[in-house]
Amino acid sequence: MMPIMLKQNIIPFRDLQFMSLSCQSCKTEVILDISRLPRAESGKSLTPQQCPSCMAPFDSAVRQHADTMRNIYAGLSLVEGVNFRVSVED
Ligand SMILES: [Zn+2]
Repeated sequence: MMPIMLKQNIIPFRDLQFMSLSCQSCKTEVILDISRLPRAESGKSLTPQQCPSCMAPFDSAVRQHADTMRNIYAGLSLVEGVNFRVSVED
């Protein structure tokens, strides 16, 4: 049996740019450019309320977390040396 080789990719936090949300009903992907959106403020979500294709509402908790992620990005993308490490099969 061959051992599975794992390699780690290092992704600088500031290189994260697009976040996509998939509609749970029709699988349409909404892509948000988190590097360009303004910071989310309370009561004003950056994330669409509903799927643009089938109009199913997006989960409000997911929308809230996506907004939080945008604000975290605004802070951490300015810092040198903040990275994600992603393990992938070689
Ligand atoms: Zn949909």
